[in-house]
Amino acid sequence: MSFTTGLKCRECGESYGWKPLHVCEMCFGPLEIGYDYDAIASVLSHRIIESRPRNLWRYKELLPVSGEPRIGLYSGFTPLVKADRLAAALGVEELWVKDDSCNHPTFSYKDRVVSVAISAAIEFGFDTVSCASTGNLANSVSAHAARAGLRCFIFIPDNLERGKVIGSTVYEPTAVAISGNYDDVNRLCTEIADKYGWAFVNINLRPFYTEGAKTYGFEVAEQLGWKLPQHIVVPTAGGTILPKVAQAFEELVRVGLVKDTPWKIYTAQAAGCAPVVNALHRGADLIEPVKPNTIAKSIAIGNPADGYYVLGAVRDSGGWGEAATDQEIVEGIRLLARTEGIFTEPAGGTTVAVTKKLIEQGRIPRNESIVISVTGNGYKTLEAVTDAVPVPFNIGARLEEFDALYQSLEQR
Ligand SMILES: *Cc1c(COP(=O)(O)O)cnc(C)c1O
Ligand SMILES: [Zn+2]
Repeated sequence: MSFTTGLKCRECGESYGWKPLHVCEMCFGPLEIGYDYDAIASVLSHRIIESRPRNLWRYKELLPVSGEPRIGLYSGFTPLVKADRLAAALGVEELWVKDDSCNHPTFSYKDRVVSVAISAAIEFGFDTVSCASTGNLANSVSAHAARAGLRCFIFIPDNLERGKVIGSTVYEPTAVAISGNYDDVNRLCTEIADKYGWAFVNINLRPFYTEGAKTYGFEVAEQLGWKLPQHIVVPTAGGTILPKVAQAFEELVRVGLVKDTPWKIYTAQAAGCAPVVNALHRGADLIEPVKPNTIAKSIAIGNPADGYYVLGAVRDSGGWGEAATDQEIVEGIRLLARTEGIFTEPAGGTTVAVTKKLIEQGRIPRNESIVISVTGNGYKTLEAVTDAVPVPFNIGARLEEFDALYQSLEQR
């Protein structure tokens, strides 16, 4: 049984039933999924959710599927790590890391949105799935398509990290690298989606795709013992995850699963691609597109589709946002690795660096609960830290050589 009331326009409210559509034909506003929250509140409880398998479908009443989910049965429910050593380094009392660097099967938050979008694609009867991607999305679409036995085309910029490229091609989709940045790739894919009629997870299936991001927020609340954090810092690329985490918190309150306690949400961007943070700092509603130039390639989207809704969610909550330079991002990656044993990609380094800034600015108080969003895995982007991390000592396989090395280290 489904608790959705179908697609409706976010701006004018027009209803569209249940179909693979993402733009309102009346006003060109984005379409979103409606739910019967009263019906959900009457059936859903902590006990029911906790009795279910530890994957993102444990919140299925609040997700857009009509039957049983077909894919993503191992995605989601990643650890919320109590980060005491990082907390000490940042001088705060209560800090958590929501760690999607170990999400299944492709080690980023994208396994959530793709699980939901491809489940919808299967329900709609598509035989081909596709995406425009900065890397992680292509990895996840390729893997899920392989598992579902669907034909797959992925479109990526031609300057991605090796790990991100091979992390797609190993699943043997048809991979197309475009000379240009993500915004060029996305523009082309909009035309391809129109012409070929495939299921582009982040274009025509976007209303379904974005819903998957709510599970990140649902899990944070459940893992805090059905409580909302006071502060959560989230990276922004196209602008999907941040407003959806905010929506997740609101929905949990709406259906009576958490108390309505105050929370603030903060956006983190790379200084080399910070169109949303720039608008936030200017007090503007209009997001001026930028040309990305940063090592944080997974979040390098110069013209974010949902940037406007990121601004809205941040401002409504009383939160804020900051940008981190590439050097600060690398330091953020190393700090998280050194203190918590978590190796994130530059997107996560951005969140750590921005959290540090917001604490130092006094925007986030030191004695309230804070969640840092780690959305991707550092093993895919080794080039980002290759020149910044120590190199191993190189010796022959003889005890005397190790003795000599050890002595020299002791004398340091
Ligand atoms: C895609 C992505 C994000 C956020 O993207 P949104 O489009 O804003 O949802 C964050 N981190 C990583 C690692 C990503 O791949
Ligand atoms: Zn409309």
